[in-house]
Amino acid sequence: MHVSKTVSEWLERRKALQGKSIGFVPTMGALHRGHASLVERSCAENAVTVVSIFVNPLQFNDPNDLKRYPRPIETDLAMLGDLGTDEVLLPGPEELYPNGYPFLVTADALTSLMEGRHRPGHFNGVMTVVLKLLNLARADRAYFGEKDYQQLRIIAGMAADLFVPTAIVPCATIRAENGLALSSRNALLSDAGRAKAATIHRVLTQCATAADAQAALEGEGLIVDYVEEHWGRRFAAAFLEGVRLIDNVAVP
Ligand code: AMP
Repeated sequence: MHVSKTVSEWLERRKALQGKSIGFVPTMGALHRGHASLVERSCAENAVTVVSIFVNPLQFNDPNDLKRYPRPIETDLAMLGDLGTDEVLLPGPEELYPNGYPFLVTADALTSLMEGRHRPGHFNGVMTVVLKLLNLARADRAYFGEKDYQQLRIIAGMAADLFVPTAIVPCATIRAENGLALSSRNALLSDAGRAKAATIHRVLTQCATAADAQAALEGEGLIVDYVEEHWGRRFAAAFLEGVRLIDNVAVP
């Protein structure tokens, strides 16, 4: 496994991969089994698997969230090695944003719902960094989790509209035994918090309506940003122990 910390180093590596099928998994690190499922799928479907780890400052609307985002880089690299990753992109912000933020990708109404409404600027940051990374990887396929369903939809729409020649592959959400969607932010919860966080998946799948689900979450003491239904799915975002968690399921 080779780790590139600069764009120029990666572009040299990329030249040698010409003619091979490439799968790409962009991440922000603090890797768990959810990320691993994307990497495994990429390894099964491509000759070469490239994983990026980059905590993108541009998509954090809350400076405190950015500051405390977990960054266990040594453990991440060990996990990626075990999974059979070939190439890791590990650039710093000065590599991906050498000129600051002179160009930003924006989108239409899709980005003003839910996560876009509650995290102003978030999707501009996501789309801008993902487009940069897709242009650097020039992969055949890129893998994204349904855990971040709105993000997946926006990225698939962006890639299609901007003629990005990489197929965007959706991957199912991986959950803990209690139903909690695996997330890097779960590491910031106490044991009791992780047990209580499973309420989110439970109410999303069991309540008759979105309004019932919201009331049930609030009844359990979570601070709810939204429970909404779009595209045949039910979405929730809520704070627990000061940590913001999101999840979504097919409308039951
Ligand atoms: P992140 O590191 O949170 O930016 O996530 C990197 C990729 O992993 C994104 O495409 C996420 O949707 C995906 N991902 C995160 N958690 C899960 C999960 N529990 N199951 C499946 N994919 C996930």
